[in-house]
Amino acid sequence: MGMCFGVRDALALAHREAATQPVTVLGDLVHNEIVLDDLRRRGVRLEQDLDAVATPTVLITAHGASEKRLSAVAARGHRLIEATCPLVHVAHRAVRSFVTQGFHPVIVGRRDHVEVRGMTEDLEAFDVVLSESEVDALAPRDRFGVAAQTTQPIHRVRALVDRIRQRFPSSEVRFADTVCLPTKQRQDAAENLARVADVVVVVGGANSNNTRELAQTCRQHGARVHQIVSATELREDWFHPGQIVGLTAGTSTPPVTIQGVEHWLHALSDRWTHETVAITSHNPALATATATATAR
Ligand code: SF4
Repeated sequence: MGMCFGVRDALALAHREAATQPVTVLGDLVHNEIVLDDLRRRGVRLEQDLDAVATPTVLITAHGASEKRLSAVAARGHRLIEATCPLVHVAHRAVRSFVTQGFHPVIVGRRDHVEVRGMTEDLEAFDVVLSESEVDALAPRDRFGVAAQTTQPIHRVRALVDRIRQRFPSSEVRFADTVCLPTKQRQDAAENLARVADVVVVVGGANSNNTRELAQTCRQHGARVHQIVSATELREDWFHPGQIVGLTAGTSTPPVTIQGVEHWLHALSDRWTHETVAITSHNPALATATATATAR
C-alpha cells in the first residue's frame, strides 16, 4: 500500500525542482493536506490563481491541465514544468481522438474536479455526467464518445455507459476506459476488504476524490466506514473487541501516515489481548488471511 506512481513521481519532481529554485505549484499537487504542508515546509509555493504566481517556474499538478491553461501560463513568461500523470495524458488523448473522429465527448466524473476541467476546457462542446439523471438529461447525438475521470469506480462508469446505450439505441456509443489501474486495484481490494471487515478505516485527504470513492465502495459492501486524514482523528469507541478492522488508503496518502494509523490500531489490538481486533491491509490476500485467522 502506498501512493500511486503518478503522485509519487509528481512529488519527486516538485522536491527536485524546489531544491534548486523557487517553484510555484498551480493548484493542489495532490488532494492531501499532510503532503501539501510538507511541500510548503520545503519552500514550494502553492497557488490556485495564476495572477498570484510570483516565481519564474510553475509546476502543473498530477491532475493535468488543458492546453488553454498551459498556454496562459507560458504566455506570462513562466517556465512550465508538467507533473501531469501519464495516465491523465492517456485520458486527454482519448477525448481528443473522440472529437477528431466526430464523436460528442461525454466524461463520467465530477464536473468541478481539476482533472475533469483539464479534460474539458479545450472542448467546444461536451457533457459531464455522474448520475443516471444526468445521463437522462443528455441531448440526443448520432455519436457519443465516453471517457472517465481516472479515479472513478469502474462499475459506476460502466453502468452509466450502459445507460447511455439504452437511452440512445440508435446512436453509436464508444467507450474509452480511462480509469487508471491503481484506482481499479484499490477499488477491487476495498470491495474484498469490506466483505470481511466489520469496520474499515479509510485514510486520505478530505478533498481526495479517490479516497471518497473508496469510502463509498466500502460502505456499499456492508462495512462501517471511518474516513480520516491521519491517526490523530482515530477514536477508541469506533471499535469493539472481536471485530475485524480493515485499513485502506487513497492514492495520495503518504506511507508514513498509513503506518501511523496501523500502529494505532495495533496498539489497540495489543490492549485487547491480541485476538480481539484483526488489522487487515487493503491487500485482498492479506485481508482474507487475517479474516480466517480471526474466525478460528
Ligand atoms: S490516481 Fe491514477 S491517474 Fe491519478 S496520479 Fe495516480 S496513477 Fe495517475
